[in-house]
Amino acid sequence: MEDSAKLLLSTISIMDSPTCQPPARDKISEESYVIDEILSKVYIHPPKNPSVCEEVRERVSEKNEMNIQTNPIALKHDLEMGRCLVAARDIEPGEIFLNDWPLITAPNAGQNSTTCLGCGLIQQTLQPCARCGWPVCNDQCSNIPQHADFECKIFAKENIKPDLPSPYSYIASAEYIKILRCLLLKDESSPEKMMKWKLILSLEAHMDIRRHIPRVQLMSGLVKKFVKSICKLNQFDEETVDFALGVVDVNAFRHSFAPAPLKPMQTDLQEDSPAMNATFVYPTASMAAHGCVRNTDWKTLSGGQLEMRASHKILKGQVICHAYVDLMLGTPERRRLLHKLFYFECSCPRCADKTELNTYFSALKCTECKTGYLLAENPLQHKSQWICSQPGCSGIKSYQYERELVQQILAEEKAVCDQIELCSNLTTIRSLMKVLKKHRDVTVHPNHYRVVNIEHILVRHLLKVPKPPVEIKLEMKRLIKKYMRLSAVFHPTCDE
Ligand SMILES: [Zn+2]
Ligand SMILES: [Zn+2]
Ligand SMILES: [Zn+2]
Ligand SMILES: [Zn+2]
Repeated sequence: MEDSAKLLLSTISIMDSPTCQPPARDKISEESYVIDEILSKVYIHPPKNPSVCEEVRERVSEKNEMNIQTNPIALKHDLEMGRCLVAARDIEPGEIFLNDWPLITAPNAGQNSTTCLGCGLIQQTLQPCARCGWPVCNDQCSNIPQHADFECKIFAKENIKPDLPSPYSYIASAEYIKILRCLLLKDESSPEKMMKWKLILSLEAHMDIRRHIPRVQLMSGLVKKFVKSICKLNQFDEETVDFALGVVDVNAFRHSFAPAPLKPMQTDLQEDSPAMNATFVYPTASMAAHGCVRNTDWKTLSGGQLEMRASHKILKGQVICHAYVDLMLGTPERRRLLHKLFYFECSCPRCADKTELNTYFSALKCTECKTGYLLAENPLQHKSQWICSQPGCSGIKSYQYERELVQQILAEEKAVCDQIELCSNLTTIRSLMKVLKKHRDVTVHPNHYRVVNIEHILVRHLLKVPKPPVEIKLEMKRLIKKYMRLSAVFHPTCDE
């Protein structure tokens, strides 16, 4: 993939980069042609037809008429970041610069809920699909192509039922279905599927890194057994199955039940209507980089179409980035997750700044002087020491101290959250306030991300208090403002 990626880069509009090769038009491979089309299909208006294949074909015919000036993004090969998307011209705040249709749509594994294999919505009641017996909302959902044309046929043929014993039970199987839906695109009898498979081949799967990771090896073994022994799909060699697993792990956009962001004047909470619980893999958006301060936001529309827009002005040449992990986590936790799940060491300005852009989002309280705050001496090292920023104080702690303290606060938060359904709202509020009192500006900075997270949960419970006294209203207002102020540093948006 690496060589072909280089070849591709020489054939498309590349931004100035010392690593660029001169154009090698005589070497254009079929694969580079496909990538060329991915970029040329970056359009300003959504397509009329939700089929990637047709959309790509449409773009092929339009290709020669396209003016490069209208294309807001381009692909760049960066020495440090690898392949990424950059702005090909200035992109205005709020401008929708990318509409992307998914190559793969698949349900996520849920905990207490069941997801329809057709529409991907979480539903209280589902019925068995008439052909395969797996859960769907109704007949209409059982006939949605992403189910009917993929695992449904195989599950029906091999009589594979959702009540397979662990580790192939329904919940775990949601993970396997994602891989099946990726693999089954490699279908010579369907030009549309093959076109999508070629786009899949252009995505990053980090094969060399992943094959040495025990967690990946374990999953790889389970998936191969599922594909070969249970589904009897022997046409896929082990390398291809691992590639599909890597593509889904590395490139997926996941929708889950994250609570809605708080709004300043919000007075009641909307109870969750059927939520989308699905994973999407996109041909172009998947190439956008991670940013610990993002410059875009995205949403999915019905059918899984992704709409990406600039959250503030993006200047020509700047890297297009969105969040691979929760940006409301502090630097040590975020960098560990990025390394574990996406195999890179983030060294962006936020990660490199001890104070996290003056938010003190990971700062701990110094136990020596009891007034200063401990900051990572080198935030780009996972095992950095934590040193007091108060002049004259010699307060110093190890990285283990930071990790254990954060784990302890998280455990206390989780203990309260695990009891929510058994306790009254008032009891939950009291318990959350107790945890805050113990840690806020006592063991950690008042802006520490674990404190901010507990405050976020607290607000959601305070909002449920009937006829709240004025002190509670003031406290809610203060907490919401604080949350929004901090959130805006990492999620700049043109809405405010
Ligand atoms: Zn459904
Ligand atoms: Zn079915
Ligand atoms: Zn970063
Ligand atoms: Zn100190």
